[in-house]
Amino acid sequence: MNKLEQFPYHRVLVLGLAKSGTAACEILASNGCSVKANDLKAQSDDPSIVYLQQLGVEVVTGGHPLSLLENIDVMVKNPGIPYENELIKEAIQRDIPIITEIELVQYTTNNQIIGITGSNGKTTTTTLVHEMLTNSQKPNEIAGNIGRVAAEVASTLNEEETMVVELSSFQLMGTKTFCPKISVLLNLFQAHLDYHHTFENYKNAKAQIFANQDKNDFLVYNADDTDVVELVDSANSTKVPFSIKKKLTNGAWCDEVYIYFKEDPIIKRSEIVLVGKHNLENILAAVAACMIAGGTIQGIQQVLTTFTGVKHRLQYVRNYNERLFYNDSKATNILATTKALASFDRPVVLLAGGLDRGNSFDELIPFFHSVKALILFGETAKKIESSGKKAGVKTIIHVETMEQAVEKAYQQSDEYDVILLSPACASWDQYRTFEERGDMFTKAVHTLK
Ligand code: ADP
Repeated sequence: MNKLEQFPYHRVLVLGLAKSGTAACEILASNGCSVKANDLKAQSDDPSIVYLQQLGVEVVTGGHPLSLLENIDVMVKNPGIPYENELIKEAIQRDIPIITEIELVQYTTNNQIIGITGSNGKTTTTTLVHEMLTNSQKPNEIAGNIGRVAAEVASTLNEEETMVVELSSFQLMGTKTFCPKISVLLNLFQAHLDYHHTFENYKNAKAQIFANQDKNDFLVYNADDTDVVELVDSANSTKVPFSIKKKLTNGAWCDEVYIYFKEDPIIKRSEIVLVGKHNLENILAAVAACMIAGGTIQGIQQVLTTFTGVKHRLQYVRNYNERLFYNDSKATNILATTKALASFDRPVVLLAGGLDRGNSFDELIPFFHSVKALILFGETAKKIESSGKKAGVKTIIHVETMEQAVEKAYQQSDEYDVILLSPACASWDQYRTFEERGDMFTKAVHTLK
């Protein structure tokens, strides 16, 4: 394990024992810190807690007693816990610094870090960069949402390895010195306002990804997003823009035919498997980050000609009798489904429906022009039917199960159509998770006869 060097604190309270809290405890305790851990829900006989106790961590569960703050130099807080939590409020009162596990990365490794954030597209872009570097024979480890906890990965990196890490605003808010060599800021939408309260606060949290960078570091940013452009104005980093709208001499861009990095053509757009304008943005960001990190054009080409998408995110599943099947189960809201529908220039059979949150689906109407049939399920089936009728969708079919949905969709399709699961709703009325829903779709598509 790499040493946690020059960490300026000794007595640490870790708040929240999910994956990141447990990893933080392990690293801190193994490096001689005095560690207390606190979790409201964790069971004291949980094997991971027993393990932490064996490492010398004092674990308190079942409440957040304020006495935990006595003799503490720093709090490592789980990113998801809001700052309104009583223990956190009191820590702020007492001037106890509050950080997230991501901050530990800065003290654990000197290796190249590529940090990726934005309101949308983080997982896709992080995966693309990881795959592009791997195919360029650049050793690297992925961390964050779909990988292992960043501090844990950082503590086990070999000398030459780069860490590619997805970062949320919640994680970034708890950083003070964290400084990726290459930062990527994809876009800024009004998001997580329940947590951050204002868009301003949210943007300031995102700005932490470049706050400690200087001109020896790189900031890849979306030159088409006015909020992003405004935010990065104060950065001291070497700025590398990307744009799907204009030619750039110092970044990643595209015309109708090619994708370019600076003056160099990288790949023909017709050879790229990923669909969607939003994915084109993610691709440009990933190309820029990969080229800066020493990746190769060939490595990038290998990925973009084969990568079918991150699971459940507009993921290409199969061509069966010239019908193209896509799994976009992660589309748990209307905006995501509009993005999916806007990604295709062929007729679409759309599978949709799920948990009813009380909203109407009329915002989908402008995107239904390419939808030839709607296959609906779940609590919202009737509401989506009503929007479909207003849009003039001719065929609307209600089904109970995913197998029926896929079968009916196939019956309604013709050669060269797209059959798309993009439910516009959460899955919890019929499935445990959106992953389970997407897996059932994929299975039904593969067993279609
Ligand atoms: P995140 O990790 O930020 O949640 P994902 O890569 O998992 O993002 O993509 C989730 C969904 O967000 C996608 O299915 C798509 O609907 C939308 N999305 C992805 N990339 C972008 C982008 N660059 N701009 C806008 N929306 C996007």
